[in-house]
Amino acid sequence: MHTPLCRHAVGEPTEYAAQAAKLGLTEIGFTEHAPMPEEDFDDWRMLESELDLYQEKLDQAEQDHPGLTIRRSLEIDYLPEYENWIKNLAKRYRWDYLIGSVHYIGDKWSFDHPDKRDSWEGKDLNQVWKEYYCRLVDSVSLGVFDIIGHCDLIKVFGDRPDGDLSHLWRPFLEAVKQSDIAIEINTGGLQKPCGEMYPEPALLEMAAEMGVGLTFGSDAHKPERVGDHFDAAVALAKRSGFTEYRRFAGGQYESVPF
Ligand code: ZN
Ligand code: FE
Repeated sequence: MHTPLCRHAVGEPTEYAAQAAKLGLTEIGFTEHAPMPEEDFDDWRMLESELDLYQEKLDQAEQDHPGLTIRRSLEIDYLPEYENWIKNLAKRYRWDYLIGSVHYIGDKWSFDHPDKRDSWEGKDLNQVWKEYYCRLVDSVSLGVFDIIGHCDLIKVFGDRPDGDLSHLWRPFLEAVKQSDIAIEINTGGLQKPCGEMYPEPALLEMAAEMGVGLTFGSDAHKPERVGDHFDAAVALAKRSGFTEYRRFAGGQYESVPF
């Protein structure tokens, strides 16, 4: 879940926590878009100078909701040129877990930006998807992330090559399995043009068969979306063959059977 620090989410962490408590959730995690070394890298993330404020906002949510466990995390953008920056971010606080996400491919192409739909014009879909999955594999190889975020975000506008994509998914999922990290079912995709959760069912089935770890995320950018469609997400996980999911604390995970 996000906070106003990224400038495109609304509601303070304590409001997300209130909503979680109302829904009967016992544990939530904040994964704000992590800073980049350049303050003008883009305009949809917290600044480096706001990292302490982020922690304070989470402290406040904790104080206001003592019955709720609040996990502290970041959603970190993976770009190959920023590997040292990412490693350093990971060391700054005792994060409970870290999500690695790819929102940029090629020459800093922000392929999922809602205002940049036109940037897809003339793209070779096979090439774009191949590049996206290559970058996901690189993000796993960095060895910092516990969870790879929305691992088919590239479908966000509904541009997907036809047919079987297992040749793209398999090397990625093998890397995830090898590193003993997790993917997530992210219900945020339901709000996007693609109209479905990330990732698609066939990818999930492959992941379950390979024994890849799984978590759940709402990717909430407003308090009303906390835990959104989690019943459907759990049903999808079970239907895909998963028998357990992962919980994180202090950089370690435990597997919880359904
Ligand atoms: Zn966001
Ligand atoms: Fe994301």
